[in-house]
Amino acid sequence: MSIVASLLSAALALVSADPTSTPTKPQVEVVTFDCGQLHFTDLGPFSDTGEYDGRPGVLQASCFLIRHPNGNLLWEAGLGDEVAEAPAGVQRANYRAVVRHTLKVQLADLGLRYDDIDFFAFSHGHADHLGNANRLKSAIWLVNTRELQWINGTPTPGRVDPRLIAARPTGQTRLIDGDYDVFGDGSVRILFAPGHTPGHQVLLVRPAHGGPLLISGDLFHTHANRRHRRLPVFNVSRADTLASMDRIETIVRETGAKVIIEHAAEDIGPRLHARVSVHRSRARLATGSLP
Ligand SMILES: [Zn+2]
Repeated sequence: MSIVASLLSAALALVSADPTSTPTKPQVEVVTFDCGQLHFTDLGPFSDTGEYDGRPGVLQASCFLIRHPNGNLLWEAGLGDEVAEAPAGVQRANYRAVVRHTLKVQLADLGLRYDDIDFFAFSHGHADHLGNANRLKSAIWLVNTRELQWINGTPTPGRVDPRLIAARPTGQTRLIDGDYDVFGDGSVRILFAPGHTPGHQVLLVRPAHGGPLLISGDLFHTHANRRHRRLPVFNVSRADTLASMDRIETIVRETGAKVIIEHAAEDIGPRLHARVSVHRSRARLATGSLP
């Protein structure tokens, strides 16, 4: 027997040694956090075809902890814990921000501190996704190159505040350019999905229990927007957004992933599929979302 053939038969013997064995799935768990609400007097900007003009509404801000045997990844940093000091919220340029449960306290409920976050990544650079970013000084930041340039660009783009990432540990920053496999085993993948912003991305997670989850960033703001392919007026590229929707929808179909829309309160509420760990503070979420 040639060397190649004997190696091959040895490999086949290994594979067939236990027909009931399956590759070990990493013990990945997803925890969702209530990272605040955005109260709008006019939701008009969330569709450039006018369906929401003049209608008030509330969008959820969500953060996600992905627990993997090789580290904790925080996806998104919410509106910011300091907002909780003002019970009625804080008026910002486009909305009133309200935070009832700080991320610090929700992490503490799990026995974690900000310093226990090993990796931090965010879908894009709008301020409602980066409120607690400066608190993640111990984490390795996974940042899309184009997004970083855009956040720090001149003039500062709308809905962006570069001060929110001023404490970014540059020595612990991994610049990424396209799709990125966070733990190298396919269980947690950042997928490039530009258009809302230049370096916008979504997260595909394969938890140990249940099917894959596609955490949408702001590719979609609501289920209605996803269904009708409605786009906000403030996306940097309509064409890129539609192309990203096409690619991500194909991945969703092929993987059978459940789509979690971060700004949709119902997606992180108590009725969420049991395969995602339900954090108890979510039972106190505000109701209300885009019509
Ligand atoms: Zn957003």
